[in-house]
Amino acid sequence: MNIPLSCPDLTQKEIDAVTQVLRTPQLSLGPTLLDFERRIAEYVGREHAVAVSSGTAALHLIVRALGIGPGDEVVTTPFSFISSANCMLFEHARPVFVDIDPVTLNMDVARIEKVITPRTRAILTVDVFGLPADWTALEKVAGRHGLTLIEDSCEALGAEYHGRKAGTFGRAAAFAFYPNKQMTMGEGGAIVTDDAEVARLCRSMRNQGRGEDAAWLQHERLGYNYRLSELHCALGVAQLERLDELLAKRERVAGMYNQRLGAWEAVSIPCEVSGVKRSWFVYVVVMDRRYSQEQRDTTLQKLQERGIGCSNYFTPIHLQPFYRDMFGYKRGDFPTTEQIAARTIALPFYGNLSEEQVEYVVTSLREALSKV
Ligand SMILES: *Cc1c(COP(=O)(O)O)cnc(C)c1O
Repeated sequence: MNIPLSCPDLTQKEIDAVTQVLRTPQLSLGPTLLDFERRIAEYVGREHAVAVSSGTAALHLIVRALGIGPGDEVVTTPFSFISSANCMLFEHARPVFVDIDPVTLNMDVARIEKVITPRTRAILTVDVFGLPADWTALEKVAGRHGLTLIEDSCEALGAEYHGRKAGTFGRAAAFAFYPNKQMTMGEGGAIVTDDAEVARLCRSMRNQGRGEDAAWLQHERLGYNYRLSELHCALGVAQLERLDELLAKRERVAGMYNQRLGAWEAVSIPCEVSGVKRSWFVYVVVMDRRYSQEQRDTTLQKLQERGIGCSNYFTPIHLQPFYRDMFGYKRGDFPTTEQIAARTIALPFYGNLSEEQVEYVVTSLREALSKV
């Protein structure tokens, strides 16, 4: 059996939507972009949405729009995909890491105040693996110190925190639509915000710094080409229309794993937090503490030999070679992050996984673990 780690869920509807755009003369900056932005803003419950070429581009533009730059510090998590910290480096600001909570795997809010300095400008929080961070506590800390909150909700589209959707926290939030996310545009991202000025700046910077009504070759500020084509947006609209279905299918698969792995002491399954609804992005189990990183890696290898797509998730950002070089980080700096990261296994996860496939993955995992 061959089971990939992730797989987009596309139907004839998506194919038709993209094909239809190809029959029009307008392949970028057209009506589908506006349609996508209106729909994603409405879905999340924000005033404005600006669609861009990736989640990373969305994060970068948020940081820039907030005027975060050289000398500034932004508190964030080392247990994330690298772009949630890189977006500060793009602007020569410094990401300042705090360790994570070992259960939720989100930033441990209680540790934030210890790292705040006069240079701290913002807290950039990631809703890791689709589980919203502790936003009530975050809003309190940010309020107390006059810091701006930024939400990296790239893994959390559709998640809810006490009735509020992921993407509604902080001054602005970022979403991503790479093929392994809950919904995809092939590549793509979006900034959502209630702040008209942030939205205006992001819209301008996505399109080479052009002003709203300025002529094509009038550039008011430094900008980028972070545009998203009409083809991407058509795919996005079609996927958004199916989003409830996509999320429900993923939740069902997570339930199949939970049921089979929940009572097994060798691994812990993704946690549940009361009042918080996870949006299933990946299915990551953490091996028990008695296992070493080597044993985890052997397990991954054994699963791969059986045709099962799997991976560790994540390698801590502070241990990435260029972070070590730039900031002198070393093993031991963020022990919880490191201990968790050494024992994670992301199992194949997507909406169209069958019960039979889940069964095969679980059986293979049990076998592999019994032999390491
Ligand atoms: C996917 C993701 C992003 C953005 O990814 P892109 O590939 O640039 O779209 C950013 N942060 C996190 C936490 C992510 O998982």
